[in-house]
Formats: sequence, structure tokens, C-alpha cells
Amino acid sequence: MSQERFVIDLRALARDGRSVQAKVPVKSLGRLVESLLEPVGEVAFEFQGERDDEGKLYVDLQIQGDLVLQCQRCLEALVWPCRVSNRLLLLRPGEALPEDELENDEVDALEAEPHTDLLALVEDELILAVPLVPRHENCEPPVKTGVDEEISPFAVLRQLRGKV
Ligand SMILES: [Zn+2]
Repeated sequence: MSQERFVIDLRALARDGRSVQAKVPVKSLGRLVESLLEPVGEVAFEFQGERDDEGKLYVDLQIQGDLVLQCQRCLEALVWPCRVSNRLLLLRPGEALPEDELENDEVDALEAEPHTDLLALVEDELILAVPLVPRHENCEPPVKTGVDEEISPFAVLRQLRGKV
């Protein structure tokens, strides 16, 4: 699949009130894959452009996909249903954030270059959304094997103490 078609003029999309929606394989998002246990499945996204009464340009971004993370307690796979919903105020490159938006936490600002890579944006949002320490609600840590016991610093300490 061509990735080129996802490089667009986001401000033009917003001015015209158009939208772009697509699905891409998770494995095509290389930077995200590093945070995953397995790069399986698809991510669906939609950019809906909007021009408000004052002429400000926005896009509403929705992303959905089930990402396979590694549970940091039991170390098994954890399917995490990812749902990102974000509203972006589009600025011209170099344009300062309008003062009335500085206090507004609901909207993120984005300096939109004439050629914006939508996949890179989707990927950035997903990387931000992935939990740092994913865990199942209910699971147990893996049972320690004898090998782990031998190389743990505590085991070494015990051995040292035993020799004194
Ligand atoms: Zn777990």
C-alpha cells in the first residue's frame, strides 16, 4: 500500500471541511512497533477537518485499534483496546498560539506544514497513548525458576553471608 496518499495539506482539509479515513496495518507503524509485544492487527483512523466561524482551522482525530502489549507483571500478551480522540488547532508554521487558546487544555495546537504526514501523526498519538506500565487487571507474576534465583543479587548475598 502506498504511504504517499497520507501526506496531505491538513489546513486545506480543514478549510474545506473534508475528512480522511483509513486503516493501516500496525506493522507499518515502525516507531510504535517498538512499544508492542506483537505488531498484529490494524489501526483505523479518521481526520475530520473543520473551519469555525472565526476562520480557525481544526481537525478532530479519532484512532482505534487493538494493540498487543506485554503485561509488566506476568509478562504475557495483553490486548489493549486503544481509543484516541483528539482535537487539534492548526497553525501555520511559525505562527504563535492565539492567546485565548493558551489556557485551553481541550485543544492541542499543531503547526501544520503544507505536507503533513498523517501516519506520523497517528503514530505519535498512539505512542503517547500507550500505557508505560501495561498490566492485566488480574494476573500473577511468573513463578521464579531456580536459574533466576541463582543469579539474583540476593542469592549472591545469601551465599556470601553463608561463607562468613
Ligand atoms: Zn499480566
